[in-house]
Amino acid sequence: MRVVGPIFELRALRQKLSGTVGFVPTMGFLHEGHLALVKRAKAENSTVIVSIYVNPAQFGPREDFGSYPRDINRDLELLQKEGVDIVFVPSDDEMYPSEFSSWVDVEKVTERLEGADRQGHFRGVATVVAKLFNIVTPTRAYFGQKDAQQVVVIKRMVADLNMGIEIVVVPTVREGDGLAMSSRNIYLSPRERQAATILFKALTMAQQLGRSGEKDADKIRRQMTSLIQKEPLAQIDYVSIADVETLEELRSIDRPAVTSLAVRIGKTRLIDNMTLQ
Ligand code: AMP
Repeated sequence: MRVVGPIFELRALRQKLSGTVGFVPTMGFLHEGHLALVKRAKAENSTVIVSIYVNPAQFGPREDFGSYPRDINRDLELLQKEGVDIVFVPSDDEMYPSEFSSWVDVEKVTERLEGADRQGHFRGVATVVAKLFNIVTPTRAYFGQKDAQQVVVIKRMVADLNMGIEIVVVPTVREGDGLAMSSRNIYLSPRERQAATILFKALTMAQQLGRSGEKDADKIRRQMTSLIQKEPLAQIDYVSIADVETLEELRSIDRPAVTSLAVRIGKTRLIDNMTLQ
C-alpha cells in the first residue's frame, strides 16, 4: 500500500495505472461504514484509492473541525488489511493555498435539510470532491447512503459538470442496536450513546408505517417527532419526508421517498435516513 501526500506524486502513480480505479473519499477515523465502501470498491475495480482529508471548507465556524477525531495510524492499518492500493493524504496547504478562490456551488438540492442547517457545508463538500475527482480521476467513486443528501448533491454535480464518473451508493452500516456508524459517535457519553438509538427507532417506525400503507407524510412526521421527544437528551433539528431525487418535502407518499433526521444528542449532532418506498 502506498501512502501519498503531495498531489504531483498521486498524479504520477495514477498515470501508471491501467484498468478501472475505484475511489473512496473519507475524512478518516475509519469504521465499518467506511470499510464497506472500500470492500465494494475493491470488488469492482482493478485499483482502489482512498483519500483521508478532514476538509476545513465543509465545517461551519461553530462546528467541530478542530476537535474532529483523527487517528491516521489506525486508519492506515485498517486500509492495509482491506488491500487498498493507494491512500491519498493531501495537506491543507496544497488543497487550499492562500490564493484559493474557486468554489463549486450546487443549487436547489442544497437548500434544504443539512444545507439549510449548515450554511456553506455543501459548497465545501462539492468543492473538495470536485478537486479530489480532478486529482484522482477515478472510474467510480463510492459514497454512503448514510449521508443521503450528500449523494444527491454529488450525483447532481457529476451530471451537471459532465465529470463522467460513476457514483456508487453503499447501504448504511449500523451498530447492533441500529445506530448508524459515524466517526462522531465517539463524542457520545454512555448515556447519550443509549439515547442515540432513538434515531433508528423513529426511522424504522416511519418505514413500518409506510409499508403498512400510510400515505400521509405529515402524520408520519408527527409520530416520529413525538417518539423522539420522549427521549429527554434528544433535540430535533429536522424530521423530513422528501422525494428521493429532489429532496422536496412531500405531503403524500406517492413516489419514492426518503425520511431523514438530524437530532442533537447533548452536544453531538447525528443524522440518519431510510427509504420509504
Ligand atoms: P466521512 O468520513 O464521514 O466523510 O464519510 C466518508 C464516506 O463514508 C461518506 O461517503 C459517508 O457517507 C460514508 N459513510 C459514513 N458512515 C457510513 C455508514 N455508517 N455506512 C455507510 N457509509 C458510511
